[in-house]
Amino acid sequence: APAGTSGVLDGLDPDQRRAAAVESGPLLIVAGPGTGKTRTVTHRIAHLILERGVPAEECLAITFTRRAAEEMTERLHALAGTAAAGATVATFHSFGLQLLRDHHGKAGLAADFGLADAACQHEILTGIAGDERSARKLRTELSHARRTGEHAPALADYTAALRERNLVDFDDLVVLAVELLESDDELRAACRRRYRWVTVDEYQDVDDTQYRLLRQLAPEDANLTAIGDPDQAIYSFRGADVGFFLRFQQDWPQAPVVALTRNYRSGKHILDGAVTAIRPSTLVADRALLAAGDRAAHRIAVHEAADERAEAAFVARSIDQLLGGASFHSLDSGRVDGDGHGGIGFADIAVLYRTDSQSHAVLDELTRCGFPVQKRSHDPLSARPGVDDLMRELALTSQRSGTVAQRVRWAADAVLATMPTAEEERINGAVEVLAPLAHRCGDDLDRFRREILLGAEVDTLDPRADAVSLLTLHAAKGLEFPVVFLVGCEDGLLPLRWPGTTASDDDIAEERRLFFVGMTRAQDHLFLTRAARRTRHGREQDRTPSPFLSGLGADVAEHVRHSAPRRPKATQLSLL
Ligand code: ATP
Ligand code: MG
Repeated sequence: APAGTSGVLDGLDPDQRRAAAVESGPLLIVAGPGTGKTRTVTHRIAHLILERGVPAEECLAITFTRRAAEEMTERLHALAGTAAAGATVATFHSFGLQLLRDHHGKAGLAADFGLADAACQHEILTGIAGDERSARKLRTELSHARRTGEHAPALADYTAALRERNLVDFDDLVVLAVELLESDDELRAACRRRYRWVTVDEYQDVDDTQYRLLRQLAPEDANLTAIGDPDQAIYSFRGADVGFFLRFQQDWPQAPVVALTRNYRSGKHILDGAVTAIRPSTLVADRALLAAGDRAAHRIAVHEAADERAEAAFVARSIDQLLGGASFHSLDSGRVDGDGHGGIGFADIAVLYRTDSQSHAVLDELTRCGFPVQKRSHDPLSARPGVDDLMRELALTSQRSGTVAQRVRWAADAVLATMPTAEEERINGAVEVLAPLAHRCGDDLDRFRREILLGAEVDTLDPRADAVSLLTLHAAKGLEFPVVFLVGCEDGLLPLRWPGTTASDDDIAEERRLFFVGMTRAQDHLFLTRAARRTRHGREQDRTPSPFLSGLGADVAEHVRHSAPRRPKATQLSLL
């Protein structure tokens, strides 16, 4: 198509279009949740390819999770079709892995280097640290050191042990890629020629090592677009640092800074409530976030339950009501979904929580009610119980041919044959957890291994499955759902505090940002629930409300005592 005629920027508002159409050079987009950051840069890449004649091969987009990478790939395909097929959409880790595979010799690795799994890392670390507990501590220390560039004395021993086994670990994928690019001028120049258009989404969560990687890929005048929101920075515990927003402006000084202010995701009350909640900790001066106005303005529903079981029951009853009253949603919002039946399906609903252990009560109750549920946990698959055992067994039996799914089953049988029956549940659980992925890999066992070791986080479950999504607040970033329940809005959970510890102001600010991320996932209905009593660490405790709730006035939130009776008539619209 001739320049400018594919209409790919038509789906953007004027501010977004200006950002997407920036000619060349570095660009920084800093904007709040739901303002279309991801949408804008996806359209920008399609625009470059379709209307500016940029070869797709020169486009590299970096995201943080594989799920985000998959979504961006799909969106790009929808916008630009096969013209976009040559573009690279990667996570920092998968980009690093590819670079190391292609240039293993230069990186001092053998062609067939592997990725260390958790069991192997643990074995090495136990050897260095002496006992299990110190090994776990050391693992966290080393990982942190490598994301932040700090010095850790035990690192040399650990790395030597890995290399002796012809292995690298997850952090190595970025660290070694950076070291390679920093030391090899020729390769760096080749990479810069290959990827002339670099985009990084969720920029607020880059750590020191990832920042160094961007510096290597993008010289001062590079076409580098960074997009993010400092108020959604939730990974400082892993070494991410919002200070890199300032660094960006120093290192790419010509970059225009673009703000987007219209939020297309959430209803007005949800948005106003979220802005109120973040205000005490906001990192963005004069944050403007306005509802674009085409969403129904339901007030935030706040509910206090007696205990965590009652909280889960409230969630289940509310879901039942939302599903049952098809008109409940569409009557006042005027929205009608794709198949013409207004209203809400299971896939539109998410339950978010701060800690994984909170998911059990919800999962039990929703399952008991017969609701389909898919749980996304932030843990990499390789950290799930039983997965290590299966992967070890798979390595032993890899000469036998069959589909990956079959081989996982055989490996499970082999493991079970040598284990007490009490372990059956754990192993079968692991088989189930691996099944989406195994299926997708066909008979490519290498790919299966790689994907698991690449730490598939949020990413293994199907975003379009007809099921309620259960996920941690961390795993929810970048996503959106018409209906969101944020459970456990209690002091000690949000902000999270471990018994016997006090939280610093910085910790609390990060927890508040996490609360903000959670609230801003909601499009039409947001429920903030808590329990008056809860069992934590084996003890039942009295709980007080999260301090983050305190600013939410009656203008944006309403207290909901009971959810309405099952299957309300269309006229019963209120949850009160
Ligand atoms: P987050 O900070 O949570 O990652 P974001 O800024 O990346 O949010 P997007 O996910 O890109 O926001 O967009 C939020 C929602 O608003 C999406 O459903 C998107 O399709 C929609 N949206 C964004 N811009 C527009 C627009 N100009 N017209 C219609 N819908 C839009
Ligand atoms: Mg986004």
